[in-house]
Amino acid sequence: MADCIFCRIAAGEIPSNKLYEDDQLLAFYDLDPQAPTHFLVIPKVHIASVAEITPQNSAVIAHIYEVIARLAAELGLEQGFRVVTNCGPQGGQTVPHLHFHVLAGRDMTWPPG
Ligand code: AMP
Ligand code: ZN
Repeated sequence: MADCIFCRIAAGEIPSNKLYEDDQLLAFYDLDPQAPTHFLVIPKVHIASVAEITPQNSAVIAHIYEVIARLAAELGLEQGFRVVTNCGPQGGQTVPHLHFHVLAGRDMTWPPG
């Protein structure tokens, strides 16, 4: 989608602090980190949110989690990490292109606040 910031990052039209890339996805550091380690993983194909995952496009989700596991190991996140995806305005989603936050480096309490 031409006017989608994460599609433009995936296409290399907007720079990012890239951690990993392959034909299906991109992982890059969040501009406004909420933990000592905070990166995002996005599918290159435009999927608006979790609410738009279908049998036709869901294979990339398994691949995203495989890559998250590999990157977490490579980054030494043995103490654990959190994977978060916000969905829709009441779910706190601000960028309408599916993304998985990976956060680590401090104790994560739940629920937040
Ligand atoms: P959400 O609020 O769950 O939709 O998360 C959107 C995330 O994208 C926020 O954590 C932002 O800091 C992050 N973000 C927005 N624009 C960029 C960008 N150009 N590069 C890296 N992270 C970004
Ligand atoms: Zn997009």
